[in-house]
Amino acid sequence: MPAAERPRILVTNDDGVAAAGLAVLAAALARVGEVAVVAPASEQSGVAHSLSLRRPLRVREERAGWYAVEGTPTDCVNLAFLHLLGAPPDLVVSGINNGYNLADDILYSGTVAAALEGRTLGAPSLAVSVGFDAPGPVQARAAEIAARVAKAVLERGLPADAVLNVNVPQAPTGVRITRQGRRSLREGLLVRPADGAEGFRWVGLPPTEWVPEPLADHQAIAEGLVSITPLHSDLTYHRAIPGFERWDFAAALGP
Ligand code: MN
Repeated sequence: MPAAERPRILVTNDDGVAAAGLAVLAAALARVGEVAVVAPASEQSGVAHSLSLRRPLRVREERAGWYAVEGTPTDCVNLAFLHLLGAPPDLVVSGINNGYNLADDILYSGTVAAALEGRTLGAPSLAVSVGFDAPGPVQARAAEIAARVAKAVLERGLPADAVLNVNVPQAPTGVRITRQGRRSLREGLLVRPADGAEGFRWVGLPPTEWVPEPLADHQAIAEGLVSITPLHSDLTYHRAIPGFERWDFAAALGP
């Protein structure tokens, strides 16, 4: 296929431009289309969908088509679409994240937020994650799977507002379409003192415990299956609307 007809793919992440997962993903996707990388200059895990509104963003082109941005994943996607790439890409792929993005953790994820931002700006988008500290061969396998999913998405498109959250276990034996699970937070997030720093605390995620659910993303990973969850950015709890309509807020709030 001549270069002009190849799909244009934006690759980004939240682990930062030097992350191993980014390089292996970009290399695998280069066999699917023309890849440009726009990624945070430093690690941004846990920043979710934040946008840098109160400071300018320094952009460094490390080599042709490979940019480091001193900002968040959402900054990167906006800069790519609106400034760096010349024209919007045909696909956005975010990852490969160092650590699964499952259940409620998705809400903290810069990796998933970048994919959602890609969708908001009009391109089909996916996020790809593997387990924490996954060895090279696991990352390579995940990149191959990401490339295959990317190909399918380019061929079939995605429903408006949908992004795919892909998690790849250590030795995948199959694929399951899943739903977002739930973290069991009996004791809330971890909060511990910062050694020697009076008045400071660290927050963090507690050891993983999931609410059991056969179709959940975490269950697929536990069974050794690639988990693909369709997500969307509409946070409305549609099934709850009829119930709230019966609350009769009009009467409660009065004239
Ligand atoms: Mn990360």
